[in-house]
Amino acid sequence: MLTLGRYSVGAGDRFAQQAEAQLQAFVLAAEKGIDITPVWNKSNREHLIVGSEPSNVIAAAETAVKKLKWNKSWHVDADHIRLETVDWFIPHSDFFTIDVADSIGKPAPAADVMAFVDCHPELAGHVVVPGIAESLKTSRADVENIGSKYLFAVREAGNIYRRILNARGESNFITEVSMDETDSPQTPVELLVILAALADEKIPLQTVAPKFTGRFNKGVDYAGDVTRFEREFNDDLAVIRFAVKQYGLPDNLKLSVHSGSDKFSIYAPIRRALQKTGAGLHLKTAGTTWLEEIIGLAEAGGEGLGLAKEIYAEALVNMEDLCAPYAAVIDIDPGKLPPADVVAQWSAAQFAAALRHDPQRRDFNPSLRQLLHVGYKVAAEKGERYLALVRACDRTIARNVTGNLLERHIKALFPGAASEAYE
Ligand SMILES: [Zn+2]
Repeated sequence: MLTLGRYSVGAGDRFAQQAEAQLQAFVLAAEKGIDITPVWNKSNREHLIVGSEPSNVIAAAETAVKKLKWNKSWHVDADHIRLETVDWFIPHSDFFTIDVADSIGKPAPAADVMAFVDCHPELAGHVVVPGIAESLKTSRADVENIGSKYLFAVREAGNIYRRILNARGESNFITEVSMDETDSPQTPVELLVILAALADEKIPLQTVAPKFTGRFNKGVDYAGDVTRFEREFNDDLAVIRFAVKQYGLPDNLKLSVHSGSDKFSIYAPIRRALQKTGAGLHLKTAGTTWLEEIIGLAEAGGEGLGLAKEIYAEALVNMEDLCAPYAAVIDIDPGKLPPADVVAQWSAAQFAAALRHDPQRRDFNPSLRQLLHVGYKVAAEKGERYLALVRACDRTIARNVTGNLLERHIKALFPGAASEAYE
């Protein structure tokens, strides 16, 4: 089976211009003995908004890999695919994130739910999961309820998995199942039931993305109860170890944290958990690189700064449309958004400081950052004019893209990647 390494980071690259700058962060980490597998991920939604296609992602990645002589693993992730969107990704991806969040809660046939519960008597009662202080207490009725809520979605995951399997053949792709884009978080007990059901579907799951407690807004820090998150995260890790043994799932199965960029306040708890347990982790980032692209444009001054301001001004006008598809994952305070004519007077340093995710700085503006996060459609509409300027401002952009991934993400999150290891 094609196996995903213990630590991996999903690097989104909206306009397929930053693969080399992104890979550079992994090269620098590897030089210090920290092995993190780069995975270039892009969703159907991003492709449609940008006007790109799956073959562009692998082409950009291959070019970067050759240029930097990267001789370790790397992958291309067809992110958040469904039965109706998977096909065009299949020839160009070796990692598939099967998204069944929309199927959660759809009713599975009652007889199937009963058969599932009968098949899994071990799930009802006191389930002793090593690593969780108290046993998970569930009744047969609980398992039935959870089964009714998730079984349809799990079957759907099986259908999508088998479609990929039939087209690609066995063993040459990595499978993730994601359930994060939904309203309520999954508890560790629910995760356990879901894993049992996914194993029944014979999906060789290597990563699973539950919805965690708290808000994972795009491009900004975690908003929620960090202590509660830490407990839940550790319980989820214990459930995964248990399910791997109990149900014969791949032993590298690990958690995948979606919208994982910029969640600085939970990186220390996650790092502690990984250190303590030896568990792996997949962290998905997407828009954080595109924001660094804008920061780099602004820092280049001149036309670059002009275009960054123009994109902001147009994003402001089109805010409602841009935010609509992301409503559940952004929290913009319109009162905190500076008017376009004010921003027009800003220096490069002012623009960069407002946008760059440095929570210590008083001039950092999370509302402006989130608006620009969803504003990539504005840049996409500028087409070649945007891309040409990005290429012209390559030096300032690459510095920001590499630095962001390495300093604020890889170093902060992965054990063995303590900052002193890099000095
Ligand atoms: Zn996601």
